[in-house]
Amino acid sequence: MQRPEPDVAYHRANMLGKIHVTQPHLPPLAEFLPYLEQIWASKTLTNGGPFHQQFEKELADYLGVPYLSLFTNGTIALVTALQALRVTGEIITTPYSFVATAHSALWNGIKPVFVDIDPHTLNLDPNKVESAITPQTTAILPVHCYGHPCDVDAIQRIADLYNLRVIYDAAHAFGVHRQGASIASHGDLSVLSFHATKVFNTFEGGAIVCPDAKTKHRIDHLKNFGFVDEVTVVAPGINGKLSEFNAALGLLQLKHVDGAIARRKEIAELYLGALTGVRGIHVVGTSSDFRNNHGYFPILVQEDYALNRDALYEKLSASNLFARRYFHPLISEFPMYRGLPSAQPANLPVATRTARQVLCLPIFPALAWADQQRVIDLIVGA
Ligand SMILES: *Cc1c(COP(=O)(O)O)cnc(C)c1O
Repeated sequence: MQRPEPDVAYHRANMLGKIHVTQPHLPPLAEFLPYLEQIWASKTLTNGGPFHQQFEKELADYLGVPYLSLFTNGTIALVTALQALRVTGEIITTPYSFVATAHSALWNGIKPVFVDIDPHTLNLDPNKVESAITPQTTAILPVHCYGHPCDVDAIQRIADLYNLRVIYDAAHAFGVHRQGASIASHGDLSVLSFHATKVFNTFEGGAIVCPDAKTKHRIDHLKNFGFVDEVTVVAPGINGKLSEFNAALGLLQLKHVDGAIARRKEIAELYLGALTGVRGIHVVGTSSDFRNNHGYFPILVQEDYALNRDALYEKLSASNLFARRYFHPLISEFPMYRGLPSAQPANLPVATRTARQVLCLPIFPALAWADQQRVIDLIVGA
């Protein structure tokens, strides 16, 4: 079948050799220059300037959420989200995520308690949450891993029953919808990341999605050192502000993101068609009851495949195709966590097994069909 090749410049970049799991998606530079000229003319570089205000509004509209507060990155946003809700004591979270999820607890002096993941969604298993709740538990911090929605209804039921806050790490879930609503509208707060490697990037950036104006104002103060006006500081806030440069890029990226997600979807569908039915290869999260952003294409390399996961990873790497073992190691295996009782592998059997089997395949808008086909051929031909 004839397929159109992506943009020639991108294609040439790929031809230089290495294909990584992702490649940042950027708009044409010429489209960004007028924004830069405005910044140079206004001399407004940060502190909630015009691009920041416009981006905040347009992004909330795009996502279909009531309020959000832009941040310099997703990690500072996570730290601030916990601070804003005055979360203390212990929080329940998943070991199967990027390390920043649990780090945000430590930055607030909170003890993370790891609970195992569901074998189908690879998200926090709601059935295992209740037995981890103690009198110190104040919140649940789940992750929509790979942008695949958590069981938000079950998690909310538990939170309501035990009077816990829910903060979603939605760093992977930009634009993901479920039952016609943004996945980021669930829980007390949701945190997004616009890091270079994410589906939507502002080089670095992030946001907290808030349910009401009051919460947004508190968060706006916390990301600006705790200032509420020129002479009043109400909390030990941090500097989490997104600059005008990043906000301007975000405005421009918003115009291109639907096209980028559509292209990702085509890539995901080609992988799915080619890899479904390959013995020992399980494609993660193919449910169609949500609108995916196709940020990742995770597979599990199971026992009945010809190679183990690391051997397949090496085989692809030898052909300059760099898949990634997300998430291996588990957060609970890092030195600052592994001493916790909840971090023991016996407490986390599904996460432990998944971390040994998972491989995220290259997926990004500029991935050439020929390169994707090489990935497929190496997997199918093993
Ligand atoms: C990327 C990521 C973060 C951190 O976001 P930054 O913007 O890079 O600080 C947090 N959690 C998860 C799950 C992520 O993938």
